[in-house]
Amino acid sequence: MIKGKENSTVVKKSSKSKRVRKFSIKKRVTFWYVAMFVVILLLAFFLLISYGQKMMETNARGDLETIVDQSVSDVRLYDGDLTIDDGLEDYVDGVNILVLRNNGLIVTGLYSQDFLEDVPFKADEVRRVEPPEDSPDDTPFFVYDRKLQYSDDPPVWIRGVSSAAKDDIFPATSNVSMMFFMALPFLVLVAVMVGYYITKRAFAPINHIIATAENIQAGKDLSKRIEIEGLEKFGKDEIYMTAKTFNDMLDRLEASFEMERQFSRDASHELRTPIAVIMNQSQLALENLDDREEVEEAFRTILAQSERMSGLTNELLALARADRNMLQLNCEAMDLSKTVDTLAATMDITAAKNNVKVTSNCQESVIINGDAALIERMLENIISNGIKYNKPGGTVELRLFEENSIPTLVIEDTGIGIPDHALPKIWDRFFRVDDVRNADQSGSMGLGLSMVRQIANAHHIDIDVESRLGEGTSFILRFCKDRE
Ligand code: ADP
Repeated sequence: MIKGKENSTVVKKSSKSKRVRKFSIKKRVTFWYVAMFVVILLLAFFLLISYGQKMMETNARGDLETIVDQSVSDVRLYDGDLTIDDGLEDYVDGVNILVLRNNGLIVTGLYSQDFLEDVPFKADEVRRVEPPEDSPDDTPFFVYDRKLQYSDDPPVWIRGVSSAAKDDIFPATSNVSMMFFMALPFLVLVAVMVGYYITKRAFAPINHIIATAENIQAGKDLSKRIEIEGLEKFGKDEIYMTAKTFNDMLDRLEASFEMERQFSRDASHELRTPIAVIMNQSQLALENLDDREEVEEAFRTILAQSERMSGLTNELLALARADRNMLQLNCEAMDLSKTVDTLAATMDITAAKNNVKVTSNCQESVIINGDAALIERMLENIISNGIKYNKPGGTVELRLFEENSIPTLVIEDTGIGIPDHALPKIWDRFFRVDDVRNADQSGSMGLGLSMVRQIANAHHIDIDVESRLGEGTSFILRFCKDRE
């Protein structure tokens, strides 16, 4: 029952995602682009047509007025006598010219429609006259009257009549409309094709991003990147920035995965040896329970290896915390001169068993802003290396001074030195210059300087290392002037 329910949910989900994919963003953008294109086209067309029609109607009215006005000179009324020149034509450029008595009697000319006879006279105004409902013809007309009057005699009217039918005043409009609507599907098709091409081009990098992401997901290959060189020529737009951010994210992911992989490889390698030793020694002790000396020796070895493992796990934990930015800084102003002096004095005591001397020479009251515990831990790591990798009778000298008002600490030892090829690697986890010379260094796990780097980074401290093989090593720390 529940199974069936689960299945149906899955089916629903997949069909929904298919539907979403069907209306891809490309199609949606093209659709809106074409819709806007058609709306603007229709609007422009109707505006143009209606403006053109207005203009043409004004022209038709003006023509009627002009023709009637010109005819006036051919008609004369003087002292009750009406004279009409031969020059008066009763049909000029689509305009019927009639001369009428005041009672409507036609002197010359002809109405094309009977209903026009009933149109009352009105001087000097172009009127539009609609045919009556029962008229067989539905053509409207423009009518324009001019009145001629001499003294008190009854007036004579010159009337111009022209068709106001759409086909007559806007002869080309219907053709243009027809052509437009015939061309419209073709225009829409072109708009769809061009729009789709443009959006496809614009969104091509997005497809590339999706394909790359899918590839990574499928093959777990984090080394793949989106090609962004080609995108730059279109400017650093949103798509370029998305692709770049995606690549940057992959860079970081790849680096951290690689680090993680390396770390677990190294950690398991480091733990394997002490575990093997413990197992071996336990076996040995069990087999020789009667031999007290043998058992004691085995336990001592087991204890030493356990201590090593405990140290290793502590270091690993601290580094893992630092990796996740869990190095919570408790920064405050601290007197670095005092810290260095105290540290030198304390470590000098422990260094005595290695026959090494730790000395300090500090400028007074050099104040920095930092997490005192972490700063001490960082210095302790560097100094203990100076002691560990020193020669009997050697020294570790700490010099603190301000250079260009930058607090600078030099930790210089007279030890075995670090070969040039190893210098860039000393910060890597589990790196030791070579296992042979470190073999007697039981506390040596290759993690100390990684921690130093983490703490220095968190405090924005620059560290330079100078070393000469067989002569000694100097760590030069430049602190931030003011980190408040
Ligand atoms: P370790 O626990 O091995 O000391 P570190 O990370 O502190 O780990 O140092 C990494 C490696 O760099 C050491 O194993 C050592 O070979 C080398 N090294 C560090 N400091 C010094 C130094 N002052 N003199 C010579 N070699 C050094």
